[in-house]
Amino acid sequence: MCAFEEGNAVRKMEALWAYQEAEVAKNAVENEIRTTPARLQLNKLHKQLKNQQAVIAKLSEDIEAYEQQLTKLTDQVSKLEARLQVESAELDTIKQDEESTAEEMTELKGDIERLNREISQGVREAKTLLGEIDKASEEYQTTARAANKAKKEYDTLRVQCEEERVARQGELDRHDEKLASLSKTVDPALLERYNQVKQHHVVPIAKIVNSKCGGCNMSLPMVMLKKIATTDGIVECENCGRILYGNE
Ligand SMILES: [Zn+2]
Repeated sequence: MCAFEEGNAVRKMEALWAYQEAEVAKNAVENEIRTTPARLQLNKLHKQLKNQQAVIAKLSEDIEAYEQQLTKLTDQVSKLEARLQVESAELDTIKQDEESTAEEMTELKGDIERLNREISQGVREAKTLLGEIDKASEEYQTTARAANKAKKEYDTLRVQCEEERVARQGELDRHDEKLASLSKTVDPALLERYNQVKQHHVVPIAKIVNSKCGGCNMSLPMVMLKKIATTDGIVECENCGRILYGNE
């Protein structure tokens, strides 16, 4: 490579480096916008609201399931009560019937006792279910109220965040203009490679510091350092893939 070409290669990398610096500056502004106290609180509330909505959905499913169980149980108890009535009436009849046996009487009394026990059991289960429904309903109300409050705060903050963004839009536009004009000074092939590397590294170009890659800190072999000094194209770090810049 002749001295003129070498100078040309250096200028190409200088232009790409300037482009990256402009991008880093724009990223810094975007990062500031993303991390204002209002924005951080907005993100926190967003997560909170999602959790609360999940809790509300779960509770409402639970309540529905409890209510179905309760309906089933109430139905069972009604049937048992109807049978109890029939059997009690039968017992009255048998008592008055002189031909009925002691065994018949005992059997019927046993049935009636069993029915009474099953009814009591059903009523106890229904009470437990009602308790669960009350508990879940109360939690539902509390969560819904909290979510409602969070949503109001969220909406206010969203407006505030949008105002913050709008206030810095001019600044971002100037960064974009600078990037657009700088991109014209960068070799298109170099810029394309830069954008490819950018998919893996936010800052694609690493300066060489003490013969090491400034991105991953790996020592660079002499042959690579020579290549960087003489090439017209791009040399990437073998370890991290960043574009290497600078010759010492
Ligand atoms: Zn590296």
